[in-house]
Amino acid sequence: MDATVTLTGTGTPLPVPGRAGPGTLLRCGEWAGQVDAGRGTVLRLAELGVRCPQIGLLALTHYHSDHLVGVADLVLTRWVQGGNDPLVVLAPKGPTSRFAHRVLDIWADDIEVRQLHARRPAPPPLDIRSFDAPAEPTVVWRSGDVEISAIAVRHEPVEAAVAYRFDMADGAVVVSGDTRVCPEVERLAAGAQVLVHEACRSEAVRARGKDYIAAYHADTVHLGTMAERTGVATLVLTHLEPAPLTEHDVNAFAEDVRRGGFTGNLIVGEDLTTVPAAAETALST
Ligand SMILES: [Zn+2]
Ligand SMILES: [Zn+2]
Repeated sequence: MDATVTLTGTGTPLPVPGRAGPGTLLRCGEWAGQVDAGRGTVLRLAELGVRCPQIGLLALTHYHSDHLVGVADLVLTRWVQGGNDPLVVLAPKGPTSRFAHRVLDIWADDIEVRQLHARRPAPPPLDIRSFDAPAEPTVVWRSGDVEISAIAVRHEPVEAAVAYRFDMADGAVVVSGDTRVCPEVERLAAGAQVLVHEACRSEAVRARGKDYIAAYHADTVHLGTMAERTGVATLVLTHLEPAPLTEHDVNAFAEDVRRGGFTGNLIVGEDLTTVPAAAETALST
């Protein structure tokens, strides 16, 4: 089945050359699902040769703008490219599901004029599946070879934020969303092959006087310790904070995670980094 996970964006709210906003693409056979859609997501999909109508599902982790500013772009481009089937949108109940329900509202005039001018059918409605962020791993969607579970994570004061797990024919991939290192992601990742996790070099961030950022993101050393306990074959770092600008910066992320004790395959993510979901073929860098 060749299930894969691809980083469509490894950035944060701060724009950095070469790093789009947060997003992760899962592919399994003909099926494609996107987790979050930050700045530039649609361009990254185009670079991968993925047309927006191929995306059948969008899973939102939380309502921070860096994860959502590309959602309208994805939904509208999907329509303009001829996508007629409703996009399934998974969202925890609360601000994130409210956002999903409103995302096309400010584009009503644009949608109307495109419909008239191109004699285009109306955009397919979003198929929004909102759920209470669960305290334990809970299946929130299932179709064919793909089963998706969610769990509430620790990104306070953001409520609710969730991580997702994709169980696919070849293996299981967990995407943390934004969170401190927490036992919830550890439970969700048990037995998974690939863990895509946000990463924050707390020491470096605090040295820049940005304690509030370190307070609700995943410390890289602690992440290494937690990831080792999960037994995942491959750990992929994304949402890199502070953004690495040099090889030295990239290595610092890896050194922290190793210091924490992680012994598996470790990838400091770049945009378009692609990893197979199956453990035995996982890449190592
Ligand atoms: Zn974020
Ligand atoms: Zn966030």
